[in-house]
Amino acid sequence: MTTEKAFLFNIGPVGRAASLHTRSGLGRAKSGCELCGLHTRCKSPRMEPHGNGKLGIYIIGQSPGMTEDDEGRQFIGESGEFLEKRLASQGISIDEDCWLDNAVQCCPGKRKVDAKHIRACHPRVVKHIETFKPSLILALGAEAMQSIFQGLPLAPVMSMRGRLIPSHEFGVWVAPLLHPSYVLRQGEPKDLIKLYNRDIKHALEVLD
Ligand code: SF4
Repeated sequence: MTTEKAFLFNIGPVGRAASLHTRSGLGRAKSGCELCGLHTRCKSPRMEPHGNGKLGIYIIGQSPGMTEDDEGRQFIGESGEFLEKRLASQGISIDEDCWLDNAVQCCPGKRKVDAKHIRACHPRVVKHIETFKPSLILALGAEAMQSIFQGLPLAPVMSMRGRLIPSHEFGVWVAPLLHPSYVLRQGEPKDLIKLYNRDIKHALEVLD
């Protein structure tokens, strides 16, 4: 795969010096957040990120699922296991090398996460990224991309995957990946697994 970095948006260079942008709503990132109401529907509201982030990789998914909500820990369901395996195939420990977070931090139950939830939870995502200062963001699926690129028009993840996109707001490269649940729903075909491994490998090149 080419190492060319794709600039889908003309939003300037990437680097720590570029991370000086607006942090709209940051002041609303309260620990007792009730902004979108999802906290009333789950056992483990406002789930905090976890992981040691030794390689500076921040992973953002959509929202905690039922298994995560039951256990009070993110990325431990089937999607988390899938991602763990894919990262391990590239020599990455999901718990040691990454931070794990979600665009929406209360489990929505059977409700579908929508733009209103993502917008409401964005200040918490901003707070976490500013705290961790990652070297690379892996964004799993459309909702994660919407959270990182608030307000910008986005192409479908399938057409963005395999590329590196600069976040001017956070001053970091973002690699869009298919959401693991999508691959699981397809029955984990070999060609998709191969593509997934290749996309992760390509994204990791920014850490070299
Ligand atoms: S999902 Fe996010 S915005 Fe909604 S209540 Fe939970 S922490 Fe707040």
